[in-house]
Amino acid sequence: MRLAPRNARIAVVGAGWAGLAAAVELCAAGMRPVVFEAAKQIGGRARRVEFHGHPLDNGQHILAGAYHETLRVMKRVGADPERLFHRFPLEIEHALAGFRLALPESGNIFGKTLNLASAFFMAQGAPFDEKIAGARFVQSLKRRGFRLSEDCAASELYDRSGLRGKMRRYFWDPICLSALNTPPEKASAQILANVLRDTLDGAQSDTDFLLPATDMSALFPDAAAAFIDANGGELRVQRRVGALRPEANEIFIDEEAFGHVILAVAPQHALTLLESHAEARATVEILSTYAFETIGTVYAAYPEEIDLPARMRGMECDAPGSIGQWVFDRGRLDERNRGIFSFVLSSSANGWEEYDDDALASRLHRELETLLKCSLPAPRWTRVVRDRRATLSCRPKLQRPAAETPIAGLQLAGDYVYADYPATIESAVRSGVAAAARVVEKARAQ
Ligand SMILES: Cc1cc2nc3c(=O)[nH]c(=O)nc-3n(C[C@H](O)[C@H](O)[C@H](O)COP(=O)(O)OP(=O)(O)OC[C@H]3O[C@@H](n4cnc5c(N)ncnc54)[C@H](O)[C@@H]3O)c2cc1C
Repeated sequence: MRLAPRNARIAVVGAGWAGLAAAVELCAAGMRPVVFEAAKQIGGRARRVEFHGHPLDNGQHILAGAYHETLRVMKRVGADPERLFHRFPLEIEHALAGFRLALPESGNIFGKTLNLASAFFMAQGAPFDEKIAGARFVQSLKRRGFRLSEDCAASELYDRSGLRGKMRRYFWDPICLSALNTPPEKASAQILANVLRDTLDGAQSDTDFLLPATDMSALFPDAAAAFIDANGGELRVQRRVGALRPEANEIFIDEEAFGHVILAVAPQHALTLLESHAEARATVEILSTYAFETIGTVYAAYPEEIDLPARMRGMECDAPGSIGQWVFDRGRLDERNRGIFSFVLSSSANGWEEYDDDALASRLHRELETLLKCSLPAPRWTRVVRDRRATLSCRPKLQRPAAETPIAGLQLAGDYVYADYPATIESAVRSGVAAAARVVEKARAQ
């Protein structure tokens, strides 16, 4: 059913994954949103960036089988996850430390619970008591329905649960850092438990790693833009919204009036747009408390014949001064990028953020040589991308704003809004889908 044009005056501010997911859902419901995007390109913090003619990204992304809403909206716009991802069972291997933990393929005769237990017990490079502690930890979270009586730092929960030694160093700590993009000493144990609930306690395929077989824009944003266009929506790039002006029951963006606005920008940008509105004081107070975490991505282009033994490898080890965390072979993921490796560095205590770009690239080059046990030619080029506000810092008892603001017609979406999760693609998409559903309901009731 197409709605009358007046009701269809809906704006989405921001064409990251949250805003695009919202606009796609609105279009699918017969509405024609106008999407404003400040940048030249869409996709926000998960988008294609070309380096030396190669389709790479603003940062290496890894998704999980538990990203159900992301996979659903991808399918809606014709982006086929089967074709666009390499899907494989959870595998954490830090070869330099002699550590490996891997789940078997799903669908085998033992079933999920046994597979998980066997993955712990078969883990290489950790003593038996540490494996038992890991299995007990998951069981105890399960018994409590993954609810903690009080939120605390993930490291405190780990301490109380007897997680230590190599399993902690090479499995539990990296899981927390990668899932929440926040080091365990600062991370929310409750949000970590929520992630473990939806992965380790979901269907076994929910624990699968999904590595993009193409660049981040081709994964969803490009197809979403085509879907919006084909369904009567409008995407305006290089259109930064400078102010939202509520008047009577409408919100003005420049001289245009909208009955509904979904503000789908990063929290620091939402803060700028909301701080002059007295009604939004509670939201502004919450957003003002947010701290952020950095992610660094270092690309290095080697001769095409050089590859990793796998699509990704952990680089953590005990060698003094080592900084590597994860390395991805982009050529194994997408043959247009043969010979290109991406190193991912999340906020951590190992000091990588102090290195300048050249020192960082050459340090990682040496650590890659150690990992591959051979000397490598100097890369043809390297590129360091540091995003100092990659995501919000997912701290204990972190407050989230209500998605529905006191400003009539204004909804929030974005990776920081979906309260159950850390800031990820899935939380961005879920918040966008939820905001669109509320707008559809209200518009239909009008
Ligand atoms: C380097 C890096 C690596 C990451 N790795 C992972 C990962 O492995 N797995 C994972 O799940 N997540 C990962 N994330 C997080 C994930 O990318 C984000 O959570 C997600 O992309 C956020 O989407 P969003 O739509 O909420 O916000 P954004 O992507 O920030 O989108 C907001 C959009 O709004 C636009 N905008 C801002 N202000 C205005 C304005 N005034 N007017 C108009 N437009 C405006 C911006 O230009 C932007 O396009 C990573 C992030 C980074 C940076």
